[in-house]
Amino acid sequence: MKKKRTGLLPLFLALALLLSACAQETPAPVGNTPAPSPAETAEPAPPTPTPCAHVWRGGVCELCGEVCAHSWDGGVCGVCGAVCPHTSHDPESCLCPVCGARATHLYSESRCVRCGCEPPFLTRGLPEYYYEECPERGSMEEIDFHALEDPEDNKLREKPAIVYLPFGYGSAERPGPYNVVIALHGAGNNEHGMVDEQHASAGRTISLAQVYDWMLYEKRCEPFLVVSLNVYSLAEEENFTDKGVTLLAERLRTLVLPYVVEHYDTYAADASPEAMREARAHFAMLGVSNGSLYTLTAGIAGNLESFGNFGCFSGNYTETTSLMLRRLSAPDALELPIYCFFTGAGETDFQKKNTLKRYELIVDNYPGLTDGANAFHLDVAGSHSWHSWTINIYDALLVMFQNRD
Ligand SMILES: [Zn+2]
Ligand SMILES: [Zn+2]
Ligand SMILES: [Zn+2]
Ligand SMILES: [Zn+2]
Repeated sequence: MKKKRTGLLPLFLALALLLSACAQETPAPVGNTPAPSPAETAEPAPPTPTPCAHVWRGGVCELCGEVCAHSWDGGVCGVCGAVCPHTSHDPESCLCPVCGARATHLYSESRCVRCGCEPPFLTRGLPEYYYEECPERGSMEEIDFHALEDPEDNKLREKPAIVYLPFGYGSAERPGPYNVVIALHGAGNNEHGMVDEQHASAGRTISLAQVYDWMLYEKRCEPFLVVSLNVYSLAEEENFTDKGVTLLAERLRTLVLPYVVEHYDTYAADASPEAMREARAHFAMLGVSNGSLYTLTAGIAGNLESFGNFGCFSGNYTETTSLMLRRLSAPDALELPIYCFFTGAGETDFQKKNTLKRYELIVDNYPGLTDGANAFHLDVAGSHSWHSWTINIYDALLVMFQNRD
């Protein structure tokens, strides 16, 4: 729809020009100079106004007041650079009726503010086609935190990690910044588990990178990158002790997050504690099994200042819950809101009952969490297995990073 021109400035300019033209006296004929011909006395044609160079702000020109008619391309106006807020969208196709671009569901209190639908959580299994290769696949980079921590020491690959970058990362079509997921594998696994390792699932195999690829391709969630850590190497030989938790929590702060912020396009301006705190709505930690315990301890209890989203699947110990509750009852905890707390387990998982019990304890005791609004618990098909965790992680990513402040 073409918007009406509302600027009054051009009108004033024309009027002023006309008035100044009239004020100039016509020179009196000298001597017997013949009277000018009617053609010469004709009003001079009004000068064509120079076109406004337009300085757009919020879709309106600051100079002439013209309202941009918007020429949308992927949710951004090619003329004035405005970004479409996608105030509504089709619940099925997710297409915005204004700009025609796909806009993800934006959940608040378990309802999409654009279409009113509930988050389409999955509990039985992932879509069939998720087991096939996605047309748009992300890329993976291996890094070694050990070499970064101590470049003099040439023992290589002692603290390996894998960074999953979404398809089109850094391109003009998929500009950043990106949300960050720090992913923690379970006992006996390594940094490949949460990204490129193929896991048995429903008689086939699937990797979590495939799940990320499809979710991003289908715009089911906000764009993110994943940093999958090797928990054993970061916690060293203290893997299952409190000291291991402290080590991991410390290294997240001093090594992992600074590296991620300095090397990738994230929401944090820099890796200072202030900037991390500012951007914590866009930082998440996801863990399965033993990684879930670390998410609770090194994440919520140890680094609530840097992370605002948590997904904890199939892990439980009583002491973990009390450590968390202690952190969440500290005076500053409510100033560090948890935007999304998602837990779950397989229906035949030996940790199922405990995971739910812990969820209820935490949500009941921490006023910053409300079930169904920013806290979710879902039991899904499967046992203490990757089949369940791929579904759990899919569900968590659907509602994560919804806070756009
Ligand atoms: Zn203008
Ligand atoms: Zn425009
Ligand atoms: Zn739109
Ligand atoms: Zn929606």
